[in-house]
Amino acid sequence: MVAADGAYSALATNCGMKWFRYNYQQIAVVSKITTEIPHFGRAFEKFTEHGPLAVLPMSNNFSFLIWCISNKQHKEVSIWNKKKFSQELQNTFGWKLGKILNIETRYFYDLWLTRAQSHISHRLALVGNAAQNLHPIAGQGFNLGLRDIVVLSKIITQALYRNIDIGDYSVLNTYQKHRYLDQYKTIKITDGLVRLFSNHYLPLIIARNVGLFFIKYSTFLQHLLVTTILNWKTD
Ligand SMILES: Cc1cc2nc3c(=O)[nH]c(=O)nc-3n(C[C@H](O)[C@H](O)[C@H](O)COP(=O)(O)OP(=O)(O)OC[C@H]3O[C@@H](n4cnc5c(N)ncnc54)[C@H](O)[C@@H]3O)c2cc1C
Repeated sequence: MVAADGAYSALATNCGMKWFRYNYQQIAVVSKITTEIPHFGRAFEKFTEHGPLAVLPMSNNFSFLIWCISNKQHKEVSIWNKKKFSQELQNTFGWKLGKILNIETRYFYDLWLTRAQSHISHRLALVGNAAQNLHPIAGQGFNLGLRDIVVLSKIITQALYRNIDIGDYSVLNTYQKHRYLDQYKTIKITDGLVRLFSNHYLPLIIARNVGLFFIKYSTFLQHLLVTTILNWKTD
């Protein structure tokens, strides 16, 4: 059985799985927005003192907003009407996409890091959010879940070729072993970024701004960052 039913998977819970959980004390406000200037496929991310704000391109010139705020701001932000929300968003995001014309329904998500104690249980494999749930700061949760699926499919195919029971512990354990390093590294990078950008220690603020400046203007560093984060090596 494959548990692909999201964070705190009911399937895996019923099989006795436990998760490591860490509350970031942040809320992500997500919505579809329309802007005056077309996004032309560009994605934006801004690091604010309360958390990151990302505007990601979607089809039909919609953009997808992910605005991380602190738990303390949740109540205040949730009662803002569309006009007030739009003004505050415009002030924080700026004018890179011109005026914010429309904001659709807003949804609020508590942000947690969760990691299952194991990728497997008896005749069970966990994939995606059932195995790990990350902060959206680096947009890596879905990618990591896809890599779980790619690796699991390969291992199942190999077992079938060798006529081995695909639910056998040796097969599942191979899957678990192959996923450990990628999961560990991606969680470390993502969690490290959250901590780096929610730190208000002045020397660190200066260091990260200098870092971001160099990344902005160095194609070598951009390439290095993207290849490290995407990590498409799945075997
Ligand atoms: C605000 C936010 C922004 C994000 N941004 C990014 C990003 O930019 N890039 C990125 O890579 N990732 C991002 N992620 C993470 C990404 O959304 C998740 O990693 C991804 O959705 C995980 O997919 P999943 O299928 O494992 O789990 P889910 O998306 O939770 O899907 C699980 C599905 O299983 C269904 N289900 C549950 N129980 C059953 C059942 N018994 N029978 C049948 N179906 C069932 C649920 O209804 C649900 O549809 C973001 C997450 C959040 C919260």
